[in-house]
Amino acid sequence: MPKVDVSKGIEVGPSHYSVVCGEDTNKELESKAVYGDCAGLLRRIRVATNTSEEQFSTTFLHESLEAINDIWCNSKLEHELLTNLANGLSQVLRGLGISFKFDNSR
Ligand SMILES: [Zn+2]
Repeated sequence: MPKVDVSKGIEVGPSHYSVVCGEDTNKELESKAVYGDCAGLLRRIRVATNTSEEQFSTTFLHESLEAINDIWCNSKLEHELLTNLANGLSQVLRGLGISFKFDNSR
């Protein structure tokens, strides 16, 4: 299954969001008991890599939707709905053979 590398970040509206992964990030996310987060002011998405491939893709989509919600939707999407959309989108993309990875070999 082809995996799309997200390590260069994503474009959301006029903004570039960096995608940050790594050992330190895993520890910080673990201490908050979350798989990822999205800091709007910092334009930064963090995703835990010490999970399954499937969880990584779902979390990446979830945090991307958080950014999209901020930029495109005036944060009107409620979190439960956003979570459901991310889960559904993740399933559809997986069914099409698309998943995501963070390639830190560069
Ligand atoms: Zn969230």
